[in-house]
Amino acid sequence: MKFSKLFIPTTKETPNDATLPSHQFLLRAGFINTSGSGLYNYLPLGKMVLDKIRNVVKEELDNSGAQEVQLSFVTPIEFWENSGRATKMGLEMLRIKDRKNNGFVLSPTNEEAMVELVKNRVTSYKDLPINLYQINTKFRDEARPRFGLMRGREFLMKDGYSFHENTDDMKREFHLMEETYKKIFTRLGLDFRIVDADSGAIGGTGSKEFHVLANSGEDTIVVCDSCNYGANIEAAKRKDKKIETKNNLASGKISTPSTTTIDELSSFLNILPSQTIKAVIKKAVYEDTTKIAVFFVRGDDELEETKACNSVNALELEDASEDEIINAGLVAGYVGIKDLPSSVIFKIDSELKDENDMVCGANEENYHLAGVDVCCMEDNVYFDLVAVCEGDICECCGGKLSYTKGIEVGHIFQLGDRYSKALGANFLDSNGKSKPFEMGTYGIGVSRLIAAVIEQSHDEKGCVWTKETAPFFVDIIISNGKNEDELSTGTKIYEDLKTAGIEAILDDRTKERFGFKMSDFELIGLPYAVVIGKKLSEGFVELVNRKTGEKEDIALSKIVEILKNK
Ligand code: ATP
Ligand code: MG
Repeated sequence: MKFSKLFIPTTKETPNDATLPSHQFLLRAGFINTSGSGLYNYLPLGKMVLDKIRNVVKEELDNSGAQEVQLSFVTPIEFWENSGRATKMGLEMLRIKDRKNNGFVLSPTNEEAMVELVKNRVTSYKDLPINLYQINTKFRDEARPRFGLMRGREFLMKDGYSFHENTDDMKREFHLMEETYKKIFTRLGLDFRIVDADSGAIGGTGSKEFHVLANSGEDTIVVCDSCNYGANIEAAKRKDKKIETKNNLASGKISTPSTTTIDELSSFLNILPSQTIKAVIKKAVYEDTTKIAVFFVRGDDELEETKACNSVNALELEDASEDEIINAGLVAGYVGIKDLPSSVIFKIDSELKDENDMVCGANEENYHLAGVDVCCMEDNVYFDLVAVCEGDICECCGGKLSYTKGIEVGHIFQLGDRYSKALGANFLDSNGKSKPFEMGTYGIGVSRLIAAVIEQSHDEKGCVWTKETAPFFVDIIISNGKNEDELSTGTKIYEDLKTAGIEAILDDRTKERFGFKMSDFELIGLPYAVVIGKKLSEGFVELVNRKTGEKEDIALSKIVEILKNK
């Protein structure tokens, strides 16, 4: 491919809203452009990278025995009503009407459609297991589309769905997918980590996420410094903190004026924050109603919102307004576990179960209770609610936990029969009994991966593509495009590389100066450049390694062979 013929509109300007390196460089180097908020066009270079990633994903999945299909992007709203998700998906799911007033959805994911496809077609245990996947457009009307391809509204996802006769077989496939994903992300040249995850709106139990480690990642990952444990903070566990709760306060109601925070309370009473119980008030949003919910955690712990949301089965949690708190009969700053208004739902962190001699609000302005024992509650009141902190102890090995940042590029779920049951998708087992399929579901953010590669691999000058993701392997730069010798040598190297099966681009532009072509090479980020310049008369060209910046003079006769071995 000749640079002079390719549509690569590079620019020096960085768009205002592009804060991440991947977003800036992909726009500046002419891989993508924005067509609307969270909507992107792929220009030739971007399309090449997208296809490369897509091919790696496809090859590894096909090798694992999964089969590629392609479902319609627009799905009838009935699918979503039948599974019960029409109301659960919220505003992220974009609904449309056709001219006959029929309801449709721009698919944000495709569990329902895939179950509909298999239903009444796979009817016997003899046809199982089956794993079907697609690499297809998804649309989610994200509240805050940002960071370029990282969180778009329209994006490319690989979504796979497997169907099984029992849980054991579904778990076997789940494990196979975990191994397959490892191969995919390793081939793409990524530094990644597999972590325990929350299952979110898709539902099901036992889910794992694949995170590309990068400082700019939106997710906080909890990792252990001595074992393999890793979890998204939304699902992270720690060893119970054992804390001395004895204090010198007499049991009962105590006057604690103007002590609405844990810090004020503990310094007023001269006790440790860990000897107090903190109440976090939220508004739990449900399909057709909202409720005020109170979550109790130890005074020195923080609430993890995803865990809290799951504990009350809400769609989401919002901050409650002052009025809503008062109307619910609560006194902000003085809320405690005893004598809560009955209309308020509440959960207590499991680590507080059977804890004695605690201090918490008295549900009365300016008063707290001392000597509170956390006991005699129904089991379903206790829930893991805390955000694991750095320095907490690993449940698996006793090591220290710390945080790192990750970009979620894959998510695999053990779904069970939730969708097959709701949609009446059954098969006959070996005893002739009708049963709903056991399912697994497996996603990869194909377009997000483009951004993830660059977040992990760039410098101040631009992109640094990995070998498998680079649109071309080599940029052959003709130092002076008007010099016939340089041009013919470059063209010869280009042809020889092509014959050797190495993808190269020939920067044959005549108007641009050498420095300009070099900055384009650095911005675009191909693994190598071969510079054909002054030393050509002595029989040498220069080989530049984009990642390390190393430059080496190489004899003209050796250059193709050397690149073949890279
Ligand atoms: P996130 O937590 O980042 O919003 P999710 O948990 O909603 O993602 P899944 O439903 O698990 O995402 O979708 C599968 C994969 O699709 C994700 O692992 C992610 O890589 C990708 N993905 C999800 N949302 C987006 C988006 N808005 N833009 C680009 N890729 C996305
Ligand atoms: Mg996810």
